[in-house]
Amino acid sequence: MKKIEVEKVNKWYDLHHDPMLEKRYLTLEDIHPLLTELGSQFSVHKIGESFEQRNIYELVFGTGPRTILLWTQMHGNESTGTRAFFDLIKFISQPKDHKWLADHILKECTVHCIPMLNPDGANAFTRINAQGIDLNRDVIDKKAPESALLQDVLKRVNPLYCFNLHDQRTIFSVGAGNETATMSFLAPSIDQKRTLTEGRKDTMKVIASIHNLLLDVIPGKMGRYTDEFYPKATGDNFQKMGHKTILIESGHSKGDYKRTVSRRTTFLALLEGLRFIGDEQAQIDHKKYFDIPNNEKKYLDIIVQNSLIDGAKKDIGILFLEKLENGNIIFVPSINQISDLSELSADKIIDAKGLEFANENDVEKWVKNRFN
Ligand SMILES: [Zn+2]
Repeated sequence: MKKIEVEKVNKWYDLHHDPMLEKRYLTLEDIHPLLTELGSQFSVHKIGESFEQRNIYELVFGTGPRTILLWTQMHGNESTGTRAFFDLIKFISQPKDHKWLADHILKECTVHCIPMLNPDGANAFTRINAQGIDLNRDVIDKKAPESALLQDVLKRVNPLYCFNLHDQRTIFSVGAGNETATMSFLAPSIDQKRTLTEGRKDTMKVIASIHNLLLDVIPGKMGRYTDEFYPKATGDNFQKMGHKTILIESGHSKGDYKRTVSRRTTFLALLEGLRFIGDEQAQIDHKKYFDIPNNEKKYLDIIVQNSLIDGAKKDIGILFLEKLENGNIIFVPSINQISDLSELSADKIIDAKGLEFANENDVEKWVKNRFN
């Protein structure tokens, strides 16, 4: 089995990725035209409706023996996975020089996808659904219609592997270093003891192969989430039920607030994940998963160094709140912490050169004026 030549696929991407999908605020209206223009390799049908009666679709491609379930945007304001998913669809439709790879995936895998599981949250640009429910914590209660739909598909499809796609906040760093995590991964645990089952090992192998491929693209910019067991999380429960679940978190890259870098690397991750799963002969040691550094929360959007607050030298750490305003995302600076932040890094570091503030309220006013 051939391996992916990442440079060549990157060239394909430069020429063929859809510029219409550059925006972070992505709604059902945006993806609807894409769902109606699919080639003959794909079938699409409505599986149900969200709480506010927006359509939720399932798209299927491939005829292979390995069944895969992939869903995106279960958190409505996390669109990078959806955008990367449509890059994958474009690749499968028009692979050009990479026909062998598209054919391999179509022949070896049957992929069921729910692009935009939470269209109400996507519309409102919220993590939660229209009932205020976090779908990633609703797997047991199934209070949201979207959660019930996902599990209906899970039961019907009985996937060998699942891909659960999310966006992570800027705050995540690679280890304690000063790099932001552009991509993070997790092979979820099935219990508090974080037992290393065969299923988890297989999940780790897929992630290790993805990590391996992306080392040539974003070296030092990948992290691994804590495998602490979350009893109510979707991935943990699906894993426990025997579906090997790969969590992918698309993240920040310096200056890249549109997440064009992680959109591309998420596309590459999906492509390599499917190639690897589809290759019976593929071998990789699951322990390579542990070569990926742990995530930490050591990155911010802005750090203002060297200010004097009530006479004491301190740094001001700022995170952007992402808000929807007239159909656009605006980034509202918000103070995250004020202290000695010499251990942290940020997208932008500003030297305040001893700028004096009487108290933290004054700092807040200054931040509002300075960064708006
Ligand atoms: Zn998420």
